[in-house]
Amino acid sequence: LAVGVLGLYALLHTSYISYSPISGERVNACFTVLARNQDWRDLRDSMKQIEDRFNHRYNYPYVFLNDQPFSSEFINMTQSMTKAKVYYGQIPTEHWSYPEWIDKQKAAERRKEMKEKGVMYGGSESYRHMCRFESGLFFKHPLMQQFDYYWRLEPGIQYLCDINYDPFMYMKQHKIRYGWTIAIYELMDTVPTLWDSVKKFMAANPELIPEHNSLWWVSRDNGTSYNGCHFWSNFEIADLSFYRSEQYSKFFDFLDHEGGFFYERWGDAPVHSIAAALFLQKEQVHWFRDIGYYHPGWQHCPSGDAWLANRCTCDPNDKSKTITNADWGKCSHQWELLPNTPSSQRKA
Ligand code: GDP
Ligand code: MN
Repeated sequence: LAVGVLGLYALLHTSYISYSPISGERVNACFTVLARNQDWRDLRDSMKQIEDRFNHRYNYPYVFLNDQPFSSEFINMTQSMTKAKVYYGQIPTEHWSYPEWIDKQKAAERRKEMKEKGVMYGGSESYRHMCRFESGLFFKHPLMQQFDYYWRLEPGIQYLCDINYDPFMYMKQHKIRYGWTIAIYELMDTVPTLWDSVKKFMAANPELIPEHNSLWWVSRDNGTSYNGCHFWSNFEIADLSFYRSEQYSKFFDFLDHEGGFFYERWGDAPVHSIAAALFLQKEQVHWFRDIGYYHPGWQHCPSGDAWLANRCTCDPNDKSKTITNADWGKCSHQWELLPNTPSSQRKA
């Protein structure tokens, strides 16, 4: 009942404030926000930025998802930040719990070990459910079924420059299936056996992997080891058909059965990124290097003419924050070195 009442509340409070796009064509797309009730303050910061920098001109809707029922406070405090349509959904229990093949005792022991080792979020159970959900389940939520593209938004991030065009439309027109702004090395203690599992998957499913893929970016030794490069998925814009594909479904199910979401601490970022490397060509993945973005830890700050024209407020030369200047940021330069697919082999 509580969920029903909240749903009704959300409906009443959104229908009269929803606006159509101001002008031009829109893509069938949304922002997707996974959040806890207490995240609303940090989310208002994020929403203020994405609205001011971009969405007040486009009014793309928001889908908020939570493993708990959203509080009326959360709903009030987020829907009041936008004129766009907002949806609030609870995550089904089976998408935020242990699959039956997971040994919970073993998972608890591994968490303890990783915590003692000082691995970031190593002791957290909820973080693991979050990573598994973001890896393979968020796009299965009923509220997501109506959309073709999504843009992930987190609490406490910043958009550092105006976005004067529609990145969804850019992706659609250029047939791009995955867009990113920050690429970084993984903390390898969180994924010690992920690559072993990826190798097993590749060996068992060669027919799912196209000849011209982007694997070179994640493995410089021809598939022997993982170099840790991944797109920082707290920002990502994706064509949801990538996640809904047979290839991605099989990949996620395989990894899910391997158990590393619980016995290690596999993140959704390396999982998404390795999938993109396995299944997509360089031309189907786009670095939005003109989008200035900060998530605690790192920023991507455009430089050159775009910085001035798009009213950026970040310092591209700030070595402590700007990822492309740091050793941890080599992955983005290396993406640029990934060879282009021969034109005869490009996917239409
Ligand atoms: P970090 O970016 O890896 O440091 O992790 P965050 O704390 O930012 O979490 C990633 C995303 O998942 C954010 O959008 C959080 O709001 C969300 N999140 C993390 N843990 C939970 C949780 O237990 N429940 C819900 N509903 N959302 C969560
Ligand atoms: Mn975060």
